[in-house]
Amino acid sequence: MKEDSVENSQDLNENDLAKELAEKDLIIIGKNIVKNYEIGDFIVKAVDNVSLNVKVGEFITIKGPSGAGKTTLLNLLGGLDSPNSGIIYNQGVKISDMDQETLALFRLINSGFVFQNYNLISTLTAEENIMFPMNLSGVKFEEQRNRAVKLLREMRLGDRREHLPFQLSAGEQQRVAIARALANDPPVILADEPTANLDKRSSQFIRDLFKELKNGEKTIIIATHDDDLIALADTVITFDQGKIVEKETELN
Ligand code: ADP
Ligand code: MG
Repeated sequence: MKEDSVENSQDLNENDLAKELAEKDLIIIGKNIVKNYEIGDFIVKAVDNVSLNVKVGEFITIKGPSGAGKTTLLNLLGGLDSPNSGIIYNQGVKISDMDQETLALFRLINSGFVFQNYNLISTLTAEENIMFPMNLSGVKFEEQRNRAVKLLREMRLGDRREHLPFQLSAGEQQRVAIARALANDPPVILADEPTANLDKRSSQFIRDLFKELKNGEKTIIIATHDDDLIALADTVITFDQGKIVEKETELN
């Protein structure tokens, strides 16, 4: 497979990266990304000098053994975490050296996260969980509520507005989490093993949702071992020991 030139060239300056981003219809450029975790004297290279470009509207899945660094990579690409070194542009913005506060603002509008364990706020109802990111981004209350209701209906949870997370099944919680990720209509959706803990029927519902999102304009990056999700991908990345060991793509 042919790699994009920016991924091969070692010493591009940042102006060149910004130019590539604009010219090649890229939504994310990652260049030499490194993320280490230090536990005492021991250093885990969770993401080890990874370069990766993502095209606008691309559907990417990332597979690989547990501990490979998939979650860490997703978090870095979406701006949930910052790398030790390397450069990440996301939607024209350099996020790799943003402070935490600016990064939080960036995420709110630009990337929707779907977590493996849903991460809903336990004291808020399904509807309030979906309204939460809209509230933070300054959407008017009525509009927050209308959109939350609409999203809940799309998730076939129209009758679960007042339910707290513990009153919902795993599959239902994950659907609320996806609705929350879509609340501010971010161009990029990142999902971390979204079907890993779900029963067959819930998994199928989530796959169908991602299929619909793929037909929309969203750029989607999913860490997953789910063959049916992988089958939707334009690009399949295999990750191991912090590195991309294989990348198959139908795009060029
Ligand atoms: P995956 O999602 O592929 O299972 P992760 O990205 O969760 O992999 O983890 C990659 C490596 O980084 C693992 O060895 C893991 O133990 C380590 N790691 C992840 N998060 C942390 C953390 N917060 N502190 C220390 N080590 C971590
Ligand atoms: Mg993980």
